[in-house]
Amino acid sequence: MNLLHRPVRMHIASVGVSKFCFLFSLVFCGLLLLLIPALQPQARHVDLPHPRPRVRPAQAGKASTYTSQHSGVPAVSSHVGDTDWTTGLNRSSVLQGETEMNINDNHNDKKGTDSKRNPERGAPHRGKVGGLSSSRSRDVLELKDIFIAVKTTRKYHKSRLELLIQTWVSKAKEQTYIFSDGEDKELRMRTGANIINTNCSAAHTRQALCCKMSVEYDKFIESQKKWFCHVDDDNYVILPSLLRLLSSYHHSQDVYLGRPSLDHPIEAAERVKSDGSVSVKFWFATGGAGFCISRGLALKMSPWASLGNFISTAEKIRLPDDCTIGYIIEALLEVTLTHTHLFHSHLENLQKLPTDTVLEQVTLSYGGFENRRNVVSIVRGFSLAEDPTRFKTIHCLLYPDTDWCPKLKPRHKN
Ligand code: UDP
Ligand code: MN
Repeated sequence: MNLLHRPVRMHIASVGVSKFCFLFSLVFCGLLLLLIPALQPQARHVDLPHPRPRVRPAQAGKASTYTSQHSGVPAVSSHVGDTDWTTGLNRSSVLQGETEMNINDNHNDKKGTDSKRNPERGAPHRGKVGGLSSSRSRDVLELKDIFIAVKTTRKYHKSRLELLIQTWVSKAKEQTYIFSDGEDKELRMRTGANIINTNCSAAHTRQALCCKMSVEYDKFIESQKKWFCHVDDDNYVILPSLLRLLSSYHHSQDVYLGRPSLDHPIEAAERVKSDGSVSVKFWFATGGAGFCISRGLALKMSPWASLGNFISTAEKIRLPDDCTIGYIIEALLEVTLTHTHLFHSHLENLQKLPTDTVLEQVTLSYGGFENRRNVVSIVRGFSLAEDPTRFKTIHCLLYPDTDWCPKLKPRHKN
């Protein structure tokens, strides 16, 4: 009997074994699948990109709170070069595109910062902390993002403009636009400078100056650049400092940076309708020291500044071009001027500027060397006779490799 049933039992037993094998291989495969991620090499985590260290212009934002000129923008420690040939000043080698800056939140955007108000406000504002460096580094400000307008007049092409073209303008040729009131093809050909004939009057009148500012504004809007900076033809622009200062703001914020010439807001009679007028108070940055405006703010100025409207706006308050800029920004748009002492005109005593802070300033000027000389005090390098404005000396401290700069004498080894 038993023998008769043996094949049947053997069959049942073999079916049981293959079932077990099948189940076992299923479990084994499942386990393998679970183990695969754990068996991946740990090295992947080590290879993750690290955020690059960046230089923080920590003091730049403080410009909004009446910083002293000594502490406005600190030297950028990681890029400070050798002590130089004339004054023992530390030469900052922070030149075009060399630094990567943080963009901090310090701004005075009183009115909305939403992207709906301004078509150019699409890009989100990047805060000072958090985020990967890759997203920020795309936003690094470069010199080519800045539109620099120089106001001049035909009679100063030789005596003032040539010096600028020889010095700082040569380092920012592509983005510097010189607004004059006469043709000078010879100068344009010889130097390759962007000289624009505004066809405005050559007189030093409010209307003539506002006419030039109006052309400057329109050209800036057309340029698509991120920042508008205006200077006079007796200003030296320290480009690395300018780049450093503007890098601490974002061009889509409402930023108006400059130096007030008064210690109080100006009061103007604003003409309303044809007869009456109301009193209006506002701060303005003096044009003689230079000022900068972000693109975001400049676009908002358009109804009062573009296509000749600047001239009629100036007529409403009967004040010069720089006051009219302040009027549009502070009084009409209610955006406050960010006061900075890094911009300098010859209205102040430039000799008082400490020698070791000169290269950290954003603009410098000169004046009155006929009677009382008003220039920055850098005494060595070129003599006062060779360089009465001190602009050549400053230029050689910033760019010692320039061919006309005195060459460094090799130091004796002891
Ligand atoms: N300027 C001008 N037309 C003139 C006289 C001056 O456009 O008829 C410009 C000049 O080139 C400079 C600015 O106005 O950029 C200020 O002129 P200046 O330095 O002579 O006067 P101040 O600084 O004393 O106001
Ligand atoms: Mn001047």
